[in-house]
Amino acid sequence: MTAAASPAPIAAMAPCWGLALPPPLAALRDLALDLRWTWSHRGDALWERIDAELWQRTHNPWILLEDVPAARLAALAADPGFLAHLDALAAERRAYLAAPGWFAETHGRAALAGVAYFCLEFGLGEALPLYAGGLGVLAGDYLKTASDLGVPAIGVGLLYQEGYFRQMIDATGWQQEAYPYNEPTMMPVQPVLDQAGTRLHILLDLPGRRLRLRVWRAMVGRTALYLLDSNDALNTPVDRGITGKLYGGSTEMRLLQEIVLGVGGWRLVETIHPEIEVCHLNEGHAAFALLERARSLSARLGIGFEEALWVSRAGTVFTTHTPVEAGFDRYPMALLEQYRHAAMGPAAEKIAAIALSLARTERGAPVNMAFLALRGSFISLGVSALHGAVSRRIFQPLFPRWPEREVPVGHVTNGVHMPSWESPEADAIFAPAGGEARWQRMAEPLRDVIAAVDDAALWEMRGRSRQRLVTAVRARLGRHLTGRGHDPAMVARAESVLDPNTLTLGFARRFTGYKRPNLLLADHARLERLLGDPHRPMQLVVAGKAHPADEEGKRMIAEWVAFTAHPEFWARVVFLEDYDIALAQELVQGVDVWINTPRRPWEACGTSGMKVIANGGINLSMLDGWWAEGFAPDLGFAIGATTAPDPAAQDAADAAELYTILEREVAPAFYDRDPAGIPRAWIARIRRGMAVLAPRFSATRMLRDYLEQAYLPASAALRRRLADGAAAARSLRAWERRLHHGWKSLHIGAPDMTAEADGWSCHVPVYLGEIAAEDVRVELYADPPRSDAPGDAPGNAPGAAPSVALARGAPVAGAVNGFTYAGRVVTTRPRRDFTVRILPSHPEARVPAELPLIRWQE
Ligand SMILES: *Cc1c(COP(=O)(O)O)cnc(C)c1O
Repeated sequence: MTAAASPAPIAAMAPCWGLALPPPLAALRDLALDLRWTWSHRGDALWERIDAELWQRTHNPWILLEDVPAARLAALAADPGFLAHLDALAAERRAYLAAPGWFAETHGRAALAGVAYFCLEFGLGEALPLYAGGLGVLAGDYLKTASDLGVPAIGVGLLYQEGYFRQMIDATGWQQEAYPYNEPTMMPVQPVLDQAGTRLHILLDLPGRRLRLRVWRAMVGRTALYLLDSNDALNTPVDRGITGKLYGGSTEMRLLQEIVLGVGGWRLVETIHPEIEVCHLNEGHAAFALLERARSLSARLGIGFEEALWVSRAGTVFTTHTPVEAGFDRYPMALLEQYRHAAMGPAAEKIAAIALSLARTERGAPVNMAFLALRGSFISLGVSALHGAVSRRIFQPLFPRWPEREVPVGHVTNGVHMPSWESPEADAIFAPAGGEARWQRMAEPLRDVIAAVDDAALWEMRGRSRQRLVTAVRARLGRHLTGRGHDPAMVARAESVLDPNTLTLGFARRFTGYKRPNLLLADHARLERLLGDPHRPMQLVVAGKAHPADEEGKRMIAEWVAFTAHPEFWARVVFLEDYDIALAQELVQGVDVWINTPRRPWEACGTSGMKVIANGGINLSMLDGWWAEGFAPDLGFAIGATTAPDPAAQDAADAAELYTILEREVAPAFYDRDPAGIPRAWIARIRRGMAVLAPRFSATRMLRDYLEQAYLPASAALRRRLADGAAAARSLRAWERRLHHGWKSLHIGAPDMTAEADGWSCHVPVYLGEIAAEDVRVELYADPPRSDAPGDAPGNAPGAAPSVALARGAPVAGAVNGFTYAGRVVTTRPRRDFTVRILPSHPEARVPAELPLIRWQE
C-alpha cells in the first residue's frame, strides 16, 4: 500500500504546462506549485528576490513566475547567489516531504492506506478561489494539517470557472456581486494525464450524452487536492457550465454538481488512488459517492449491491455541518428520476429503490442528501459537542423508536490550521522557543513555549500586530473609496481611520439572519458611547458577504455601511468589502477582541474565533458552537447565558449583555495598565487562552480525533469486511435480511423485577419467533435522569443510562423459541424506570448506525 499523496500510479504531470523556465531554475516550478507557501513563509524572501513588486502585489508565486520577464529569469539563472538560495529552499522542501511525519511515527503507515476527503469547496488561499466560507476554509485547513502530520489524505472537489462571487459595495451601501473568471493556467494546479500522456477524463453518463470531466491536481505539501471540472470542449455548452458557480445555480445544476462530485469524484479516486480506504463526506453534498462505491464494489467482487453497501459503509465517514434540518440538500423525486442513471449507474432501478429507502423517511418525500450520507456511513459526526446533540435530534427520524441520545451521531469539534492564521509577529516570538513544528504538538509543550515569552514581549507583539492591521485597513479602504470614484479629500480620509493604540474589535462573517451581524447596532447610542469613550475608546472593523439571494443580509450590510458614515465615528468604524481568506488573516492577526453573535444553537461550530487565539486575540462570543465548550471566564468573554421567551426578546437581551460586557469588562481590562504601560490582567488572559484553547481548537487535535474516532476504526472494519471475498459483508447482509424478515415475530413477556439490596434483578420471558437468539441482544434499559442544566440539550442529559444486557436462560416451557432472559442492575432508581428491549446484535455491525431496528416491551 502506498501513501495516498504519493504520485499517482497512472497519472503524470504535463512537462511544461503553462510555464517555461530556464533549466537551472526548474526547481522553482515545484516550489510555486506547492501550496505550502500559503502557510510556510520560508520561501517569501526568494520570491521577493525574483520580483519584489510582483510579489508584493500578488503574494502568489505561480502568478509571479508567469509574469516575470524572461530577461529577469535568464539573469537569475546565471546568478550563483540566487541559485544557492533556490537550492536551499528546494532541499528544505524535500526534507519536509521525506520526513516520516507524526502519523507514521505514531500509528505506522500500515494502519491506514488513505482517506479521500470530499467537499464542495476548498479554501486554501486566494490563489485558488474555490470556496465560499467556513466549510471551504475548514477543508483547506484540513488538507494543510494532513500534510503537516503526514496523514495519508487527498482532497476531492470541483474546479469552478467562477467560484463564489466577489463583493463590491456600491455608493448606496448595497452589495454588488462580481464573478471573475478562474483561468486554470493562472492557478497553481496541473492537469492530470493518463498513461498515454493525454489528459485524463472521468466520464459520466447523462441522459443522451456522455459528460467528460477534466481532472486537475493541486499540491498541498504532502497532500494532493484533486479537482474535477466540466469545462471540456466536447461537452455541451450547458454541461460546460456545471462547474461554473459555487452555490449559484438552479436546483438542477446543484444536483449535477453533486453527481459530478460524488460519482465523478469516486471514479477519480478509484482511477488514481485505488488504495484509498476511507471516504470522508464533508457535508452531505457528495453522498452519491457511496452509491458509486457500492456499485463498483458489487461489480468488482461479484456480490449484490446490498452486500456491497455493507463493505462501502465500513469505509465511509460523514461530517454534518448544519444545525437545522432546512439546511440539508433535498431533491424532488421527479428531478432525481431524470438523472437516476448518472447518479446510480447501470442497474439503476434496483439501486435507486435501495438508495431512496436510505435517503427518505417516507414515500414521496424529496431525497435528502444528509440522510443518504448518514445511512451510508459507518461513523457520523457533528462539528461541536452542542452540534452533536442538535444533530441527534435532527436525525432522530431515521431511527424510529430509538432514544434520541442513542442516535449514532457523535462529534469532532472543528479546529484551525494555526500556522495559516498565525501572524508573522506571533511567529517571531514563539518560534525561537517552540520551533516550526510547535503546532503539531499538543498541550504540554505548547504551554512551555508560551510561558517562555514574557509579558512585555507579548504586549509588544500585540502592538505590532494591531499596527499592521491598521495600516492594512487604511490601504484597503483607500482602494475601495478610490474604486467607487470618491473625491480625493474623501479618499485621503482613509489614511487616518483607526488608531494603532485603541482597543480594536473585529467582526467578520457571512451576513445572514442567524449570525445576527447587526446585533452590535441594536442600540446606536450605546455603541456610540463605547466607541467615543474619552478614556477607554474602542474601534471596530467589520466585513462580510451576504448570499446573492439574501436580501435581509444585504440590508444588514447597508446598515453597517450607513453607520460608518457617521460624522463622529467614521474613523472608529470601518466596513471592508470582499471578506476572504486574505482579509480574514489580516483581521484575526490584528484585532484584540473577536466578536461573534449567532442565535443559539445555529452556529454549528464557527472557526473564525479560533484563528485569533494563535495571535493573542480574545473571544467575546455567544455560548454557541465551539465557544460553548471552549469558554471559561479566565479565557475570554461570553454572552447568551440567559434564555428569553422569543427571538426578539433574546436579541434584545443578548445585545444588552454584549454592550455591558464591552463596557464593564473588556474596556477596563484592556486599559488597566501598570507603571510600565502593560495591561497585566489582559496579558494573563491572552496567555491562558493560548495555552488552553490553542491546542484544543487546532486542526492538529481535530485530525487526531478524526483518526482515532473514525478513520482507524473505519479502515479496520473495512479490511475485515473485505477479507475472504467479502465473507463478512455477505454474512452481515444475510443477518440483516433475517432480522428484517423476522422482526415482527419478536415478543417480550412481562418482566419479573425483584428488589435486591443494591438494585433489581430481572427475569423476563422473550419469544424470539423466527429469529435466532445469536442475532439479537436483550437489554434492561432506563432513560438517563433528566437534567435541567442550561448547557444540556433536551434528551442529552449527561450520565450513562443504566442499560444492562440480559443473559439467555432456560427455554420457556411449552414455547417455541422462547427463553427466559435474566440479569441484575445496580441502581437506586425505581422499578418503573426500567423497560426491556431487543436490539440487533452482530459482532461486526454498528447498531443502530447500520441497522436501526428496536423492539420495546409493550
Ligand atoms: C474562518 C473563515 C470563515 C468561517 O468563520 P465563521 O466563524 O464560521 O464565520 C469564513 N470565511 C472566511 C474567509 C474565513 O477565513
